[in-house]
Amino acid sequence: MKGRDRSLIKCILFILSVCCVVSCSHEKRPLVKDATAMDTFLTVSVYDEEISDEQAFAMMDSAIAEIRRVEMMATDYNDTSEVGTVNKHAGHDSIIISSELNSLLETALQYCRSSDGAFDITVEPLVKAWDFLSERPQTPTDEQIQTILRYVGYKKLSIINRTVFLQQPGMGIDLGAIAKGYAVEKALQKLRSGGVHKAIVDLGGNLGVGWRGTKMFDSTVASIYIRHPRKDGQYFGKFKVGNAGISTSGDYQRYFIEDGVRYHHILNPKTGMPVRDLVSATVVSSNATDADALSTLIFVLGRERGMELLRRTNGVEGLLIFQQGDSLAFTGTPKILSSFSRTPTDD
Ligand code: AMP
Ligand code: MG
Repeated sequence: MKGRDRSLIKCILFILSVCCVVSCSHEKRPLVKDATAMDTFLTVSVYDEEISDEQAFAMMDSAIAEIRRVEMMATDYNDTSEVGTVNKHAGHDSIIISSELNSLLETALQYCRSSDGAFDITVEPLVKAWDFLSERPQTPTDEQIQTILRYVGYKKLSIINRTVFLQQPGMGIDLGAIAKGYAVEKALQKLRSGGVHKAIVDLGGNLGVGWRGTKMFDSTVASIYIRHPRKDGQYFGKFKVGNAGISTSGDYQRYFIEDGVRYHHILNPKTGMPVRDLVSATVVSSNATDADALSTLIFVLGRERGMELLRRTNGVEGLLIFQQGDSLAFTGTPKILSSFSRTPTDD
């Protein structure tokens, strides 16, 4: 079995980081379709009562196809995707990319610049070195990390007139921190353009709630459950949203434990090591792309700087879980906290 197939199965076994529950009085709604894409579970749910089952299922199929299309563009796990092609030619050739990838890269680069490289889409060689998806991931040696760090740095990625160049061979782009959210956003757009106005797309815990006429925090639409970071199958708490993108980044999604230390997939691009401070960061935004990028970025920034960023970013809310002694504690922005409640299994 190829590494990627194995990793897909592994990911399917993961319990999602957030999940969404919507109450519905119509006996045939929601209509739900499950699939796998981008190495994780995908669920598309349609709640509109006005459209036929046939139309709803056709639209769910096209939303799933849309997510797979984004995956084919953005994955760095083969060298035939657009990102894979750029990576393959690193240090040698510049590659003309589609305007879609161009704008996704520009969005991602804005996060790289504004965070001074705490968010950095050139972490690809580091991510491959840690190889969290392999059967037996191992900590790279200090020497390996120091060598690889020479190939990491968004300033060595140039995009001019839709032409991308990675300055050194060995460099690579990894859109793992933003592509799922972007795919969710595109799937919601597809649904909307096909007349579906009450839908939820859940791609491995990157959620898009597309509910016409509702606000980001609307207690009448969806309950978002945040997975308990340390108790499998349990939830840490829940809050309510309307039209929004929601994403959680956590140290429990891809990790291994070595000599009692947890090594996970969100890396500090300056040190090459997994970031230690938060246990999880959940972000709610008006769109799923920003929610995805920001949840990773805030996880990297940690509790204090992450909260600071949340406070000064309009239209974005967040809930951060961190270790306090032997138990978990949380903090967040006022709007999310006002609808947040813990579950009876809390610790
Ligand atoms: P997420 O699950 O959205 O938080 O994204 C985590 C993924 O983003 C990892 O599996 C890596 O592919 C990538 N990644 C890890 N660290 C960083 C970072 N500091 N900046 C940008 N992407 C990262
Ligand atoms: Mg992310």
